[in-house]
Amino acid sequence: MKLMYINGEFTKGKAQGEIEVTNPATEEVLNSVPRGNAEDVESAVQSGKEAFKSWRKMGANERTNLLHEVASKVKSHNEELVHLLTLEEGKPISENEEELEWVANTFDYYAELGRHDRGRVIPPGEHSQFNFILREPYGVVGCIVPWNFPLLLMAWKVAPALAAGNTVIIKPSEMTPLTALYMAEHCFDHLPAGVVNVVTGFGAEAGEPLAKHADVPVIAFTGSLATGQRIASHAAPMMKKLHLELGGKDATVIAEDADPELAAKAVAYAALINAGQVCTSTERVYIPKPKAKQFTEAIVEHVKSLRLGPGLESTTDVGPMIGDSYRAKIESHVEEARARGAKVLTGGQRPKNLSKGWYYEPTVLTGVDHTMLIMREETFGPAVPLMEYTSFEQAIDLVNDSPYGLGAVLLSEDPKKIKMFFEDVKAGTIWINDPLTDNYAGPFGGMKYSGGARELGIEGLDQFRETKHVHWDFNFEDKSYWFPYGRE
Ligand code: NAD
Repeated sequence: MKLMYINGEFTKGKAQGEIEVTNPATEEVLNSVPRGNAEDVESAVQSGKEAFKSWRKMGANERTNLLHEVASKVKSHNEELVHLLTLEEGKPISENEEELEWVANTFDYYAELGRHDRGRVIPPGEHSQFNFILREPYGVVGCIVPWNFPLLLMAWKVAPALAAGNTVIIKPSEMTPLTALYMAEHCFDHLPAGVVNVVTGFGAEAGEPLAKHADVPVIAFTGSLATGQRIASHAAPMMKKLHLELGGKDATVIAEDADPELAAKAVAYAALINAGQVCTSTERVYIPKPKAKQFTEAIVEHVKSLRLGPGLESTTDVGPMIGDSYRAKIESHVEEARARGAKVLTGGQRPKNLSKGWYYEPTVLTGVDHTMLIMREETFGPAVPLMEYTSFEQAIDLVNDSPYGLGAVLLSEDPKKIKMFFEDVKAGTIWINDPLTDNYAGPFGGMKYSGGARELGIEGLDQFRETKHVHWDFNFEDKSYWFPYGRE
């Protein structure tokens, strides 16, 4: 069993029992972690509170160096981390190599951004006065992380939170806690005790006490809409700062001018990276009616050529899904669409050649519409539903016809269409011709039910800083506007 990390020590804590972590490619148990509970959260919060006293006051030079050291340790443990991540999460090695590159660079980026500014000076109302704005850390930040990019989404919270002077408690997903604990052992071990804590456990038993804890003023959460709503219901009455990155139902629009082969490659990547288990996965594809046949054939041909298999094999394009219940969801969406008249052009079943592991064949459907689950609810699996549109305006209406607003993709080189798309689509990120490419300095997050938080960029740092205005008069003297009124 791998132990939790509280106050600089590895411990079983007060956990009752353990949680097994399974390899989704083989269904074999990899290891186990303690089934943490409210008492463990309490110990971690106390350790975070104690560490906060000095961490918040640490000089920028020292703190920056310590955060750069996290990045160098991630780089020096890259191979082990990539391997472990592939074992517990399942996606192909090349995707995990990219995830680790992002983790290291995120720590380097926020190390520097953290020392870049602490607020601003504003013109005082009177010459004898000095007014300035401080951007201050909140205290202990709860970072609740999902399984699909366990280290990247952890780094997008932990790096800015620490750079701003907060301490953190990480609650990794119960399905992928091993890489977070590896990071604690090998990459966070030089930080003062209590600055980073990792409490393992189920959401209801370890995540919820964190969300409810009176001494945790910020909850940074990435996960499903339902869990986000539950966390918000606990945190809102306590006036906590909520940083919610929730689900999506992202669309790709292929414009008439797009090249079919290129469009097929872009759509397949956007829909099938991490077996479609990305919050910004393309889950709806809109194709222009006059060229529907060409685009459909190109997409089906390309998707058929993709290789399904274990993430550890270098030739694998699409790996397993994270678990059986997640596979059951895509199966139910595909079956409902099929029963209501949609046509499955490829996939639509479990692979016959892989008896173990939670695999599902990359699936292309046509004849879908917005009454079907596959076009409305988050599928979070390897599905590419294609729907025809008759005008570009209609395509934009279809994109916006969703409660979510995380990202949206357009494939086109027509500037008028591009302008219309980025102005009229309600989503936090718009990708033109290069789906799902993020930028360290570019804020990432959603609109509508995708949650309003932003990660990365200066916006990502500001999520972990609160604002204090200081008004300072150098002259302590009687003011004409003090009591008593009516003075001559
Ligand atoms: P999830 O909501 O089931 O779990 C996420 C985390 O929350 C886990 O650590 C879990 O243990 C914890 N949790 C569960 N119940 C909790 C509770 N009651 N209180 C506190 N914590 C609790 O989500 P998941 O299945 O791990 O991840 C998939 C979801 O995440 C998808 O909906 C996906 O769209 C979303 N996601 C969003 C983004 C984004 O940036 N917007 C990125 C990746 C994933």
